[in-house]
Amino acid sequence: MTRPGAGGRIEVICGCMYSGKTEELIRRMRQVMIARQPCRIFTPRLDTRYSFGHIASHTGATLGAVPVSSINEVLAQADAAQVIAIDELHFLEDTAEAILAGCQHLADQGMRVIVAGLDQDYRAAPFPGMMQLMAVAEQVDKLYAICVRCGAYATRSQRLINGRPAPTDAPTLVVGGLDLYEARCRSCYEPGR
Ligand SMILES: [Zn+2]
Repeated sequence: MTRPGAGGRIEVICGCMYSGKTEELIRRMRQVMIARQPCRIFTPRLDTRYSFGHIASHTGATLGAVPVSSINEVLAQADAAQVIAIDELHFLEDTAEAILAGCQHLADQGMRVIVAGLDQDYRAAPFPGMMQLMAVAEQVDKLYAICVRCGAYATRSQRLINGRPAPTDAPTLVVGGLDLYEARCRSCYEPGR
């Protein structure tokens, strides 16, 4: 594993809802700040669950962040940062190819790029941007939640509408909290119709 700060690298923090991805991103960025490395934290404008201009974990930890809609806005504001963090990457309004090219460009310039995001949508299908970044990343950490049904490790985000699995033709991106999503394991996950 290459030493963080020794050169460009991509780190992917992935997993299902409630697996602690943002918590882990905040932990790494606090270390960066303690080391006084120039850094920028970005958060998609679409994710408005918590206060605007911050990233926040479900447990309440927060860090200031710049709201963006696309990877091009990240590239335009990367400036002289040594470390770039992007939370909830799956919410960016870009193609997987554009996200991949943008993050590769930053890492090729010598930056440490840390992204956090869902690896699967509510249909348990891979998010294309995350999938491609994982393939080229120097470091991938897959986090787990606990299945609300059986207590096993959960890897899937069960989306519920009125307590029933969401239909497969529902929109992919719906910002929500406890009322809409549950962490479930492979056995307890219920596909929609
Ligand atoms: Zn389960």
